[in-house]
Amino acid sequence: MWPAAKLKRFRVNLLRWFGEQRRDLPWRRTKDPYAIWVSEIMLQQTRVAAAIPYFERFLARFPNCQALAAAGEEEVLRHWAGLGYYYRARNMQKAAQLICELGQFPPAYDAILKLPGVGDYTAAAVASIAFNLPHATVDGNVVRVVSRLFASNGDRKRVVEIAGKLLDRQQPGDFNQGMMELGATLCLPKNPHCLLCPVAKMCRARGLGAQDEFPAQKVKPKNKEIERALFWIERRGKVLAWQRPTDARLMPGFWELPEKEHLPDTTPTRELGAFRHGITVNNYRIKVWRAAAPAQFGKCQWLTISELARLPLSTIFKKAVNVLSESVGD
Ligand code: SF4
Repeated sequence: MWPAAKLKRFRVNLLRWFGEQRRDLPWRRTKDPYAIWVSEIMLQQTRVAAAIPYFERFLARFPNCQALAAAGEEEVLRHWAGLGYYYRARNMQKAAQLICELGQFPPAYDAILKLPGVGDYTAAAVASIAFNLPHATVDGNVVRVVSRLFASNGDRKRVVEIAGKLLDRQQPGDFNQGMMELGATLCLPKNPHCLLCPVAKMCRARGLGAQDEFPAQKVKPKNKEIERALFWIERRGKVLAWQRPTDARLMPGFWELPEKEHLPDTTPTRELGAFRHGITVNNYRIKVWRAAAPAQFGKCQWLTISELARLPLSTIFKKAVNVLSESVGD
């Protein structure tokens, strides 16, 4: 680790730069731990620009833990629809109920860590930003910044150790946000803006002219092409659909259109259209087929068109509905 004077200079430079250049984001205008926690959960899998409108709508409808704890699960999921990884929303509601029982948002790292859906990163972010507690946050941005500063391979355990030593214990919230802001705005994965970097003189990778070599790149898994067929089965203004279990990890409680595995006796009669949908490394080519109602519905249920507008539908279901509206418009 660096000598004390260098460490001090690093903290001063980073905090000054963050004070001058920080982006004005809605969750940075508050110290309310609830709002900061909501933003951190949203940002776990979503880019800042995409998260902003969701955050504003979510906070307008659920301005505090009490409102979130008391809301119906379907309404919470509807406000989350589009952010993906729906188990996050369900965990948030469970956590909000626990916080209401506690009587306040827990003002300590260990207690925040015990909330459902909260890991080391989120607990450190909320503890440092809302309560000014000295816990370093380590997200992908921090891993990149630290591994370049020290020209190390980005081993997470080592980065956590270094981030803890770099942390300014007087201003941990601003320091953590400064590190993440540096990674998000200047120390980019490709072509980092080193000329604008407030800590460029202390950066080992830059000194070596090897910024792009850190952190070491992982080999990416290959994308898979997968064909799927959805059934659009309509009868007297109702459509057959099935609901994901409410304790499913992926999109709990969301409605889906059936496929062969749900209705094995169904034979498709006419192709209505097709669309593509990507989930992680899987590229789905999905065809929507009209089909006649089978004798056995399995776990499928009939939904009216007005129910479709009210219930949480998966993105695949919504894309299928769009395909259908286009085919009707042809
Ligand atoms: S000098 Fe460049 S590589 Fe080093 S921390 Fe700053 S932006 Fe990142």
